[in-house]
Amino acid sequence: MRKSRQREAVRRVLREADGPLSPNEVHAAAERLVEGLGIATVYRHLSALEELEEVVRLDGFGKGGRYESADIAHHHHFHCQACDRVYDVARCPGQKRVENLAPPGFVVEAHELTLYGTCAACRG
Ligand SMILES: [Zn+2]
Ligand SMILES: [Zn+2]
Repeated sequence: MRKSRQREAVRRVLREADGPLSPNEVHAAAERLVEGLGIATVYRHLSALEELEEVVRLDGFGKGGRYESADIAHHHHFHCQACDRVYDVARCPGQKRVENLAPPGFVVEAHELTLYGTCAACRG
């Protein structure tokens, strides 16, 4: 019972986030939903959800990785260099345009894109 409430809290936090979250960020938000939730428990649920393919772990944003729901549609990320938050970016240059970047004769099947800079909150 307790275990499923904890897992649901982790799921919900990731579903409602506006970008991929670090385990610490998941913990800070999930703690408000389930009292006494420990960071080790958060790690355990994140790994379990990753194994169930409900969440995806992203390794490009520093130590410990970031996690996001697996069912988000195609999107990109903005990594703020001031606060270290990662935001989802819905807009995409388009697969066709990206294909033109590949060397002649190469076949592009997918792409990822990360923007780096300063978020609106940090710019003040
Ligand atoms: Zn920022
Ligand atoms: Zn795209």
